Amino acid sequence: MKSLLRLLRRLVVMAVMPAILLAAGWYGGTKYGAPPSVINAVDTVFSKGRALLTPILGEAARKGGEAAKTAAQQGGDYVVGTVEQMIKDYREREEQEPGAPAEQDNQPTDEMPAPEEPASEPPAAAPAPKPEPEPAPQPKPAPSPAPIASGDGIVLCKMRISNQPRQGEPGSSIGAADETTTYKGVDLLLMPATKACLSSGYGYRNGKLHKGVDYFSDQGGDALAGGAGTIVEAVSRADYGNMIVIDHGNGVYTRYAHLARFASGVSAGATVSMGQPLGPIGKSGASSIVHLHYEVLTGDYETRAKSFGLEAVDPFGL
Ligand SMILES: [Zn+2]
Repeated sequence: MKSLLRLLRRLVVMAVMPAILLAAGWYGGTKYGAPPSVINAVDTVFSKGRALLTPILGEAARKGGEAAKTAAQQGGDYVVGTVEQMIKDYREREEQEPGAPAEQDNQPTDEMPAPEEPASEPPAAAPAPKPEPEPAPQPKPAPSPAPIASGDGIVLCKMRISNQPRQGEPGSSIGAADETTTYKGVDLLLMPATKACLSSGYGYRNGKLHKGVDYFSDQGGDALAGGAGTIVEAVSRADYGNMIVIDHGNGVYTRYAHLARFASGVSAGATVSMGQPLGPIGKSGASSIVHLHYEVLTGDYETRAKSFGLEAVDPFGL
């Protein structure tokens, strides 16, 4: 009987784990601080779960054997089901209200929407960007993203960073601001941004591939051209917001998303040099925080999907 109760306890703990991680901000790409709605939902699961499990445990203790197994199953199912529902609700809210004040926490919660599949509508048919309500001022939970002055190099934001590409403590520099990498003979900046810090690297984040690198900025930083080339896309989209794609030749492209606006002269067909400002870093499109989403891409651009038919690579892995 004791071992069965231990099993039950373990099952419940395992089921509650996603809820704890959720509250800790693991879900949704949040580096820390889950929105209050999520924390409240987790609290509800705990209190309701306790109320439900206490009599079940009592019953199982009295009857033993099969009753304990059934209780463990029911308890586990209840918690898992509730957590799944919670995640589903949270996702739906995020999709419906990407910039709603209730979900605003002024933290990098960048949940990059999957770009359209090549088989779906061409980018030209993309819907107009959704109007984004003004963010309500919110108290900043600690730790706050680092206010970064330009010239500090490639600095890690003061937060938990998913897919951190190099060793370094939060707030420390992991490279020079003008550090470049060479891909297929093309020189590219690792951080095409000013007054920004690295808030997320390339790689799997919550089971989804984050195809770029994020640079958070609350200091009015600019997005810069990662390398010399020609702008092939300068469009406004619902997901990537004000987005620029540069063709660098040799089948190498870079994408810049969520700009506040385009700098003057930045439009399709314009040639740019490495480090040329493209526009202020913003949160246009499906982003609730001010950051630059930067992608290094390769492949055949001349398909119906254009830049969305390209393959993303990790700029820090080249
Ligand atoms: Zn991103």
